[in-house]
Amino acid sequence: MNVPALMATYQLRQREYLLRITRAMTSRLDLPSLLELILSSAAKMVAAPAGMIVLYETATAPILSTVDSGAAVESEHQARIRTIYGIPEQLLGAFAPLLRPIEPPLPAEEEDDTGDQSPGERYRLELERRVAEVEENLGRKLGQVLGLPLFFEEEVLGVIYLFRGGSAFTQLDWEFLEGFAYQAAIAVRNARLYAQLSTERSRLAAIIEKSADGILILRPDRKVEVINQTLAAMLGRSADAVIGQACSHVLELQNVTGDELCADDTLEVPPQGLRCEGELVRSPGNKLAVSVTYTPLFDERERLTNIIVNISDITRFREEEEMKSTFVSIISHELKTPVALIKGYAQTLARPDAAWDPDTARQSLQIIEEEADRLEALINNLLDVSRIQAGDLRLDLSDVNMNRLLERVAQDYRTQTTQHQIELDLPDDLPLVVGDEERLRQVFTNLVGNAIKYSPDGGLIRIGAWVDARIKEEGKPRLVIYVADAGIGIPEDELPHIFDRFYRVDSTLRRRTAGVGLGLFLIHAIVEAHKGEIWVRSAVDKGTTFSVALPIEDDREDIL
Ligand code: ADP
Repeated sequence: MNVPALMATYQLRQREYLLRITRAMTSRLDLPSLLELILSSAAKMVAAPAGMIVLYETATAPILSTVDSGAAVESEHQARIRTIYGIPEQLLGAFAPLLRPIEPPLPAEEEDDTGDQSPGERYRLELERRVAEVEENLGRKLGQVLGLPLFFEEEVLGVIYLFRGGSAFTQLDWEFLEGFAYQAAIAVRNARLYAQLSTERSRLAAIIEKSADGILILRPDRKVEVINQTLAAMLGRSADAVIGQACSHVLELQNVTGDELCADDTLEVPPQGLRCEGELVRSPGNKLAVSVTYTPLFDERERLTNIIVNISDITRFREEEEMKSTFVSIISHELKTPVALIKGYAQTLARPDAAWDPDTARQSLQIIEEEADRLEALINNLLDVSRIQAGDLRLDLSDVNMNRLLERVAQDYRTQTTQHQIELDLPDDLPLVVGDEERLRQVFTNLVGNAIKYSPDGGLIRIGAWVDARIKEEGKPRLVIYVADAGIGIPEDELPHIFDRFYRVDSTLRRRTAGVGLGLFLIHAIVEAHKGEIWVRSAVDKGTTFSVALPIEDDREDIL
């Protein structure tokens, strides 16, 4: 065969090969394996025994895991050697000069030779300089080097480097590889986009799945396409059981304010969405206060594609709201009463037209003093509540003699009531408790005060204590102190709430007795700060026993 005929056959083979490789490349979306294919094919085409691909990371492209068992070398330009062929990994560091981007000529620019130095020429010279640096690092010659830029729409995605000892790369090699590089760049670009999309997809899936709010994605026919973990847990149903069901069967809402999209199939979804509040029925009798937002998604032809439903649990918000209004009404009532009394007695005493006998004057002043004390106690309680909420309840620790403390509390109250008998049932040698004496006094003063307040017909109030030497979970013995009364008792269903802020059992007596429902809340917080425990047993019309357990080993460090 003559030379032109040989050339023609050669070119035909190359074209066929290029076609085959292009097909193989376009079907690969996994970047590392695509790069391996590109590099090995390019090397094979020009019989190069070694090569590498350097990719530049673009701002939008996610930085993917490195290939070649982590042998990636990174430059400050975010260029990385992404795959190698025929080069030992330990030599990769020497190739760092090739990571600094070299501005390659645009494919069109190369022919546009204006006489001086063409961009192609400049590129080749710069490449030669870099190769010389690499050779110096390696301490040996590389032979022929071909740097094939991967262009995609004027953006350089990276460079394929091929190394071949001996014979120079010919113009033919160069032209053939250029066509290949063009296809390779498209494939790299696609693989990158695909990776980017996959990352975004999994990011979105994680956001939906792990969101603290419940999320439903509905199809245009309002059937469930996606439900996240949170909502499935809120509903107590498995995601599989819900998918494909009508939204109205899944999201059962009651007492709705606003438009409820799921319940009304005919309701149009406005582009700006809809919002409502209501109660989500989880099972009969088990409801959750929720806020629901429906957001429609439209395609480019403005057809509804999905509706995103976002469900947030607003129980806490509702409770806070209720708490605020309870707070305002209780406090204003509790503040008004003593203020009105103080004002009334003071005004009366101050009347210029009346002369008061000393007894009446003393009694009036005593009432003024008592009411001022009530106000002061209330203000102190409120300050304590805000300290507890700010996590700032400080304890002034010392060794507390509980015998003495409880005796004093009992004695103080004995002088205030004749209706009640206050009995102490204490061994003489109770162990010392490490605690804040004033705060502990507050605890027992409050408990005995409540025992008196909620035993309107009088009766026995017993204060007792014993050492609980059973080893609890922490392995520490405790001192248990109880305050028992024979009063009105607390209904069983109210017991779980009595330590809550502003909680008062609803009874006729409660309505008649003063109080704001802060005492037990404060006691609970003080006992907890001492690493103790408080519990209650009660029977309506029989009486109530509050027990407080305090650790008795030296827990100074634990408490601090
Ligand atoms: P307050 O006494 O100001 O209402 P507390 O926080 O001290 O607030 O008590 C909360 C509620 O618990 C009281 O309103 C009362 O209904 C109930 N309670 C507390 N102690 C007793 C007791 N010894 N006997 C019966 N009910 C009690």
